[in-house]
Amino acid sequence: MRAKLKWEKSFLKDMEKEEGQEPHPHVVILPIPAQGHVKPMLKLAELLSHSSCRVTFINTEYVHTTFLSSVDIHAFSRRFPKFRFVSIPDGLPPDSPRSGKGIFDVLFSLRDTAKAALLEVLVSLRQPPTCIIADGIMCCAAIEAGEEFGVPVLAFRTYSACCTWTYFHLSMLLQEGEVPLQDKDMDQLVTCISGLENVLRRRDLPSICRIDRVDDPLYTFFITQALAMRRASALILNTFEELEAPILFKLGSIFSKIYTIGPLHVLSNVRIKDDNLTTLASTKSIRWQEDKGCITWLDSHPPKSVVFVSFGSLVTFTCEQMLEFWHGLVNSGKPFLWVIRSDSIVGDDDPRTTLIDLEELAKDKGLIVSWAPQEKVLAHSAVGAFLTHSGWNSTLESIYAGVPMICWPAWGDQQVNSRCVSDVWRVGFDMKDGCHRSIVEKMVRDLMNDKREEIMKSMEVLSRTAQQSVKEGGSSYFNLEKLIEYIKSIHLKKL
Ligand code: UDP
Repeated sequence: MRAKLKWEKSFLKDMEKEEGQEPHPHVVILPIPAQGHVKPMLKLAELLSHSSCRVTFINTEYVHTTFLSSVDIHAFSRRFPKFRFVSIPDGLPPDSPRSGKGIFDVLFSLRDTAKAALLEVLVSLRQPPTCIIADGIMCCAAIEAGEEFGVPVLAFRTYSACCTWTYFHLSMLLQEGEVPLQDKDMDQLVTCISGLENVLRRRDLPSICRIDRVDDPLYTFFITQALAMRRASALILNTFEELEAPILFKLGSIFSKIYTIGPLHVLSNVRIKDDNLTTLASTKSIRWQEDKGCITWLDSHPPKSVVFVSFGSLVTFTCEQMLEFWHGLVNSGKPFLWVIRSDSIVGDDDPRTTLIDLEELAKDKGLIVSWAPQEKVLAHSAVGAFLTHSGWNSTLESIYAGVPMICWPAWGDQQVNSRCVSDVWRVGFDMKDGCHRSIVEKMVRDLMNDKREEIMKSMEVLSRTAQQSVKEGGSSYFNLEKLIEYIKSIHLKKL
């Protein structure tokens, strides 16, 4: 198979002759089909394309269709002529739910089908790939396909360094008897993750640790992906060195090459100096239409007066939880802008009735939208706090914008992120495992008034450091250069 699939060096030489110049590196990029993964990987893809790499970006068919309908593909192709979107099936029937916890069915299905689909894409490429940049959660498929095809794989873990490091300890957590977490004292510190022994309590471990049996399929899935990821030739992270230096040092025991290039949403704007950033596909959501009217609504509010509430692209909540948040926000007396997606509310109650009532009641207190231009909202002078689920992109976007956070983590990496926000970086509060209206009200009041000064001191330092990191001479700016050099060096070796 390997011999059959491996690209002939002579093919490259022919292309050199044909084009009269050395062909550029060709990078194949494979994210998992979720907003928080596609967005940073697409940012990187655009940056690589901007640096003369050819890029093939693989979405699942489900994402491909809805996503590309929102992108002006002609303008995009003019801007990035060497960029191509392709799609692979996710292996599920068309009507299978893919949002909310449906994403786990997608992951299981891709585990079984993505390798063959990826190999098919690799075989079909006109210019042989230089390397694959695969989502850390797609590493099994990508590493096996890459090894069969003779192409190195770089792992892009879209989580923080702290969380990535934690996922490398899943087997150890089982051996030490920390996991399953069921029936354990959740406030006890977990001491077996070196570097985080004084940070993470059991309740701060990734949500997949909240299982009741050692052979839980999702837990096993993540152990397997982490094992495969160790075989990657480099690790890419959407973070910045200054934020997570001690844990990045620890990750150096696994990866000889680590490229921290975050916050990517800004590095991309800094490097791709384009008058019309809307040409970039990475500014579009993979599913939702932005409500731009909320910016006009924000314009009518005084500085730092509004609480922005958004739980990302996948987290769901019940009507009961929504009412707790709503009362807490209203009782705090602060105006709020709240993103409630069409699939945000789950449970037996009819969400439409409750939502219509709330929208009516909220008229003079808040605005509910189904998807917001989040980066613009966080940059708006009227926004004083962010009630967030602590997804990693949202956390970085908030740090960059200097907006302090109230964290209500639901799953995945969010438990770890919210702990770092509150207890390591001290730029917000962690509301983990509850959302009673009295707690919501108190945290909003504390963050907007009573304890604001203290939190803002750390936030201003962190935010400035994030801004420095993406400027010319900054750590992330420099690391992107090094990553591009590394990709070019792989390419040159193949010639
Ligand atoms: N986002 C947005 N508008 C919204 C809600 C979310 O643009 O109304 C973007 C947000 O800026 C972030 C991404 O969606 O970049 C969500 O990623 P994150 O990692 O925070 O959470 P996930 O959706 O993966 O849980």
